[in-house]
Amino acid sequence: MTPEPAYVFPAFNVLQDLYAHGCPVCQYIAKATFDFLAWYQYQLSTEQTVQNQLAEAGGMCSSHTWQIYDMASSYDFSLGYISVAEKVAAKLYQSVLQGHQQSVLPVDNEHCFVCHMLIPLEKAYIQDIYYTLQSADGKRAYSQSEGLCLAHLKKLIAITKEDELIDFLLNHAAQHFERWVEDMKAFVLKQETLHRDLQNDNERKACYEVLVHLSGGK
Ligand SMILES: [Zn+2]
Ligand SMILES: [Zn+2]
Repeated sequence: MTPEPAYVFPAFNVLQDLYAHGCPVCQYIAKATFDFLAWYQYQLSTEQTVQNQLAEAGGMCSSHTWQIYDMASSYDFSLGYISVAEKVAAKLYQSVLQGHQQSVLPVDNEHCFVCHMLIPLEKAYIQDIYYTLQSADGKRAYSQSEGLCLAHLKKLIAITKEDELIDFLLNHAAQHFERWVEDMKAFVLKQETLHRDLQNDNERKACYEVLVHLSGGK
């Protein structure tokens, strides 16, 4: 049984999000995840049914478990995870009884209900970027933005039917990577020639931009 909490994710505004630094999809998902886990963490520490449901589901993936651990107190985390850990112990004993059946082992990151909740959310956000790109204003805003990380760009291109728009997206990404290359080169050169004082903001941030656009947000 997978927990299906009655939670409504906050609405998004793609046009506005495009003005921020980094990949807007990663940033929205990170914020939505944080807000959800903060809400869920409280439910988990106070509601036995929620604890039982999470125990049945075998917990969450490691990344979301760490996130909830980081935001909860040890007291609240303990309250929430007693049932989960109890269930793990029971499953381990069950595995012994059933001749070490691997399928019984409670190590299953693929069935994280939070990850599953985020899939349609990410899809809806990318779909909205696609709709936004249909208008001149949307396209202009995208031109001025840093664009998406490569993983999200790939997903956006996968739903884009117009060849011209795909070219626009690819050229936009290529130009940004080219610019970051120039900025990183200048940054490195000024570092090596002891001219750190001449490094500008873009040059200092270029390696971070490359990181988030190559690998997405955390
Ligand atoms: Zn992204
Ligand atoms: Zn997860």
